[in-house]
Amino acid sequence: MKKTPPASTPGFATLGLDPRLVDALTALGYEEPTEIQAQAIPLLLEGRDLIGQAATGTGKTAAFALPLLQTLAKAERKRGAPGALILVPTRELAMQVAEAVHRYGRALGITALPVYGGAAMDGQLRALKRGVDVVVATPGRALDHIQRKSLKLDTLGTVVLDEADEMMDMGFAEDLDAILAATPVERQTVLFSATMAPRVSAIAAKYLRDPVRVNIAHERLSHTEAPRVRQEAYMVARAHKGAALSRVLDIEQPASAMIFCRTRTEVDELTESLTARGVRASSLHGGHNQAQRDRVMAAFRAKTVEVLVATDVAARGLDVKHVSHVINYDVPAAAESYVHRIGRTGRAGREGVAITFAEPREHRQLRLIESETRQKIIVKPVPTVADLRALRLEALQARLRDAIVEGQFEGMRTVVETLAGEFDIMDVAAAAVRLLAAPQSDDVEEIPDPKAPKPSKVRANAPGPRERLFIGGGRKLKIRPGDIVGAIVTHSSLDAKSLGSIVIQDRHSLIDVPAGSAQEVIDALQRTGIKGKKLLIRKDSKR
Ligand code: AMP
Repeated sequence: MKKTPPASTPGFATLGLDPRLVDALTALGYEEPTEIQAQAIPLLLEGRDLIGQAATGTGKTAAFALPLLQTLAKAERKRGAPGALILVPTRELAMQVAEAVHRYGRALGITALPVYGGAAMDGQLRALKRGVDVVVATPGRALDHIQRKSLKLDTLGTVVLDEADEMMDMGFAEDLDAILAATPVERQTVLFSATMAPRVSAIAAKYLRDPVRVNIAHERLSHTEAPRVRQEAYMVARAHKGAALSRVLDIEQPASAMIFCRTRTEVDELTESLTARGVRASSLHGGHNQAQRDRVMAAFRAKTVEVLVATDVAARGLDVKHVSHVINYDVPAAAESYVHRIGRTGRAGREGVAITFAEPREHRQLRLIESETRQKIIVKPVPTVADLRALRLEALQARLRDAIVEGQFEGMRTVVETLAGEFDIMDVAAAAVRLLAAPQSDDVEEIPDPKAPKPSKVRANAPGPRERLFIGGGRKLKIRPGDIVGAIVTHSSLDAKSLGSIVIQDRHSLIDVPAGSAQEVIDALQRTGIKGKKLLIRKDSKR
């Protein structure tokens, strides 16, 4: 797939953003501002304090980061002394937000540093000493640095509280109070929160000055706007989305599908990877000219292209009457856009399917769309390798049935007769089916469920020390190796390949596991038991 040269992004320019920032967004493949960005950016550029009610997935990070970067670039400041402090509830968010600030601000030469608890102090102290423009911190660690005087607040022009409700829920209220009280009086304060709990309103009332409110979770869509289609979602970590998508396409076998992505870059990358997996996919985004669009659309209508990967902007004016599947590769930033997208399926009384891939952190945005459309989106586990194999076997059975009815076995019968002299005829047939059903190379990897315990750093087949575990039950309780492996694989982050030898005795069993995961396995087995029985599990002392 040819990469298209970036076209200008007028939507962002009209918000009053510096051309260098607009260029950075264009290079990232953003086609137009999201709703929260369109509303918040001009107000923040004016220097107003702001309360934004928006969940993850709405584009809120860019909504506060872009104005902050622009202000920093303009201000006469001591280089390296922090001009902005962004407070976030978790380490993951600190890293993500710092990364976003870095990406947007690179062209302006603005630096960002994530500072969070649980990480070594040394590195953070050195980085702060060297100097940084934007500090993205969890409240506890920020306070630590303030007290050590490694984080100075006197040069701050902007303070952002991101996911304020989460910070309150995590017990950071006092820390936030202490931090905010120590910042300069002449500052811009911005607060983002998915909900407006009383404690969030209280901190806003105390520290924000005449704030404007921007709430994108307001209008309920009328009932008639939302079409009736099968609406499902898969919760999957970003790293596994591509694999999950091809699994779902395999299972759903869409006659014609539209896949929506947030950015041009994503559209191009996804189209490339789908094409590499043998899917007939084409891309459509704002960087394409009319002739390219016409060509792609003609191919889609003629069904030579079965999957169209598009941004919202590119899809807006399209005359597509019906697609069997609409797939949201990300949770859309607004319910309106969700409704527009899925409106392309389930038309004219035909059954339509809308599938949304959501990262765990976008859960709230998904629920918000559900409540605004007043329609249930069913969250399903990503189909497993076993599901896929079962489906393929079903399809194979159907093909065999057709072949049997069709007859024409000349030449084949001799093979069967020869083998039948040697083997059971049932085995001959089963072996033939196995050869036909040989799994394809792309479906051997299981896709982890993000709701399960965190993946361990121990990889399958990782060499390294093993630890022997003692399990207080064995043959007398009808425990077999498969029961132990099954319980461990289901309830811990280990896979079967990383387990060592298993010994089953009358009254106890032993299993070798990677030493680094021993405690995790013990905890998991104690919690869930084996074959429904709670058993004593401990490290084997005889070793
Ligand atoms: P957030 O709600 O800030 O976590 O952003 C959600 C995702 O949307 C991030 O991956 C951003 O990179 C992306 N994003 C933010 N603004 C836009 C935009 N205007 N167009 C496309 N993608 C965006």
